[in-house]
Amino acid sequence: MPDVFADLVGQDEAVATLRHAAAAAAAVLRAAHPVAVGSGQAEVEGQPGVDPGAGMTHAWIFTGPPGSGRSVAARAFAAALQCAYGTGCGECPGCHTTMTGTHADVRLVVPEGLSIGVGEMRALVLRAASTPSGGRWQIVIIEDADRLTEAAGNALLKAIEEPPPRTVFLLCAPSTHPDDVSVTIRSRCRVVPLRQPPAAAVAEVLVRRDGIAPDVAQWAAAAAQGHVGRARRLARDPEARQRRDAVLAVPRRLTGVGAALDAASALIEAAEAEAEASVAEADAAERAALQTALGAGGTGRGAAGAMRGAAGQLKDLEKRQKSRATRAQRDALDRALVDLAGFYRDALTMALRAPVAPVHTDTAAMAEAGAQKWDAEGALRRLEAVLECRAAIEANVKPRIAVEAMMLTLWKG
Ligand SMILES: [Zn+2]
Repeated sequence: MPDVFADLVGQDEAVATLRHAAAAAAAVLRAAHPVAVGSGQAEVEGQPGVDPGAGMTHAWIFTGPPGSGRSVAARAFAAALQCAYGTGCGECPGCHTTMTGTHADVRLVVPEGLSIGVGEMRALVLRAASTPSGGRWQIVIIEDADRLTEAAGNALLKAIEEPPPRTVFLLCAPSTHPDDVSVTIRSRCRVVPLRQPPAAAVAEVLVRRDGIAPDVAQWAAAAAQGHVGRARRLARDPEARQRRDAVLAVPRRLTGVGAALDAASALIEAAEAEAEASVAEADAAERAALQTALGAGGTGRGAAGAMRGAAGQLKDLEKRQKSRATRAQRDALDRALVDLAGFYRDALTMALRAPVAPVHTDTAAMAEAGAQKWDAEGALRRLEAVLECRAAIEANVKPRIAVEAMMLTLWKG
């Protein structure tokens, strides 16, 4: 098995920082327990000069565009910290259990709804303060830390301000902008910026790790615009490819106001359908599990009270599921908008005769036709309309309103 950083595509600088930190962290443990920690100490490539702690800190933020590998980086770093050799060898139990998500001292928070609540965060912080059972580090990975509620952020801040000695927080967020991460949390963390990986690097990992044919991998990597997970889905999932085709058919359908509004409806409905399909299974399983749990109470003395409690639990579940469905819808719509933005970016670069490869090779001819018709300015206005639509939805404008406004601009220019 390759080492834990192997899947972190095109991020050499970040990987170097994390390797250095993991080595420093291992030195801290060796200094604290000269004998007890790991049989691997002798095999760590000579780091006698490493000052225990230099290069290591207890709170980190991984930033970068979606798909750049924020959570991959956080998980790999967690594995390197739990690695018996302090290197992220990929083979020892510490690495292996962390990478498969079963390490007892690594907790991963993945918000399912629109935000991470304060209750969840408090419970997490409390557990993170306990002594690591494996003798190394307690690690909390928070994906999408930008979705923390203010109260949850405060609970987290308290823990980061007064960290238990062996606890490490790894946060993932799009950026360190105050909208994403509060200034106070940011000031306590070391930032690891990830960049959008080049298409060639994404294609390489699809071929090596997922066994995808090189030509398909290259096409998918370019079409996914550096988003590794998206590239893999495009390469493997025919439905994902169909949805993309439908989105890229939008520009040539915009022949008038009516057509523009129809295109807006179609885009929204497609996102809704995709989201529904993605959460339906989980929803049904959760409902069944809850009903089984509640039904087990039967008709005893406590049954009436249990029924009242049941109604509350069911309501909570429905609320959580609704929030998750909304998130899934927005994510699906956002993917469509990113594809659409890629098309207008192609038209713009063609109008400018810029020597860059198109994002969507399969609609390059249509983009070229657009470039001739609109010129660079018109292509830019359209690209901006798509980006504004994304920003508006992120800022809670009703998706239908934002998408309709965008379609009208895409038609009129
Ligand atoms: Zn290892």
